[in-house]
Amino acid sequence: MIGRENIRELEEKGEWRVSELNELKRKLAMSSRMLVNSGLVDYSGHISARIPGSDHLLILPHPVSRATVVADDMVVTDFEGKVIEGKYKAPSEVYMHARAYKARSDIQSVAHLHNHMVAVLSMVDKPFYPASSNPGAFFGPGPMPVYMDPALIRTIEQGDAVARALGKGDAVVLRGHGSMVVGQAIEWVFAACVDLEEAASRFYKASLLGPVRVYNEDETQQVMKGRRKDSVVQKIWDHNVAKTKLAGLMQGI
Ligand SMILES: [Zn+2]
Repeated sequence: MIGRENIRELEEKGEWRVSELNELKRKLAMSSRMLVNSGLVDYSGHISARIPGSDHLLILPHPVSRATVVADDMVVTDFEGKVIEGKYKAPSEVYMHARAYKARSDIQSVAHLHNHMVAVLSMVDKPFYPASSNPGAFFGPGPMPVYMDPALIRTIEQGDAVARALGKGDAVVLRGHGSMVVGQAIEWVFAACVDLEEAASRFYKASLLGPVRVYNEDETQQVMKGRRKDSVVQKIWDHNVAKTKLAGLMQGI
């Protein structure tokens, strides 16, 4: 358990660095405000990060606006969704995050979005192929997996079911609700959130005009190579930091 009283002890043992924890909290606050500025979360929706080397995560609190949340507001929970530290409640859908980390040791960050175009596409009985536009190629070939149960994710069992629907992928669509996006770092997840909504928006518009020309396997691999790179992820991150600052939403993190 990582309580405030244990942090010094863990730091002395070299198991945990306070500076790293603070950096993750700051990046979560920044990315939350950037997701608001991009219209990908509203009053709900959240982003989290695994505390490296532990079975705990940092997540946005339930009641604080996603537009004004600060680093100190973050809540620590375990992988059963139980709050370990923090002055606020965890979001009611914390189980989605907790069980994704439990199922996938490779992921370091998770976002749950109420992304409008992805939710719109999920209402139609038609597969969504993100790899028909360059941003969508971030997700590789094939249609997006869909978790069909429209109920909110409020239990460990539901969280496990979402993680099963996600499989080994980068995102899963939640029917009529939004999506869950996972990745190797907060910056990667943020970039994937931006790309997923852009791909959904283009797919929707293209679908109105006629059959969509989905990238074949070779085309997808080619575009993916240029898209899934630290330099591209950093560019998307930096651009959104700048945009969110200009919007006046980056103060007092
Ligand atoms: Zn939700």
